[in-house]
Amino acid sequence: MKLLVVEDESKMLELLSRGLSEAGFEVDVASDGAAGLQMALTNSYNLMVLDVMLPFIDGFEVCRQIRKQGKTTSILMLTAKYEIDSRILGLDSGADDYMVKPFSFAELLARLRALVRRGTQNWPRYIEKNGVRIDVLNRKVSYSSTDVVLTATEFDLFKCLFEKSDAAISRARILEEVWEFPFNGSSNIVDQYVGYLRKKLTPLSNVVSIETVRTLGYRMVFNPIERGTK
Ligand code: CA
Repeated sequence: MKLLVVEDESKMLELLSRGLSEAGFEVDVASDGAAGLQMALTNSYNLMVLDVMLPFIDGFEVCRQIRKQGKTTSILMLTAKYEIDSRILGLDSGADDYMVKPFSFAELLARLRALVRRGTQNWPRYIEKNGVRIDVLNRKVSYSSTDVVLTATEFDLFKCLFEKSDAAISRARILEEVWEFPFNGSSNIVDQYVGYLRKKLTPLSNVVSIETVRTLGYRMVFNPIERGTK
């Protein structure tokens, strides 16, 4: 499986290159957009991990050029939080997925694996339970025709609970998955965000709710559909 990493921060490039090689990919690297584009067009890569802010040609343009040449390489874009714009959210440049820095390497691997499995054809993707639908690509939650408008963090928290619904999840685990920093034992940020999320889920309260699990954390619970009169 051939993979190209295009990233201008040398430390990040080295980290990615090493980690992905260890994960079994045959890794090539480029440290600017022009070099990356040339490599992508002259070689056949299965996957590409592409930074957005790059010298010479930015990631969006690299992506567009690759698609223009008819290359179907699966492309995952890396971006800083403040760089997220509509081009990423809509993946208008032809990318298949994106991740916001800083990210966990485990998640990057999981997403790349998913891209391999899926090929590039099956977007967009949805997860659905009891009529509650997550549009993973556009990071939206909806029920019937009602959209639940969530902030980025609220969405990540919702998705984390949703994916493991009916199971109790500890605050530490939630912190790790949603905030990606080690739990220091004092933060009540999880409780705070669960509070926000509960408020936003009020219109869906007959379908889905977040239960407090004493001394541990939280659990997302779906009510039987029959009860939901909407
Ligand atoms: Ca960069």
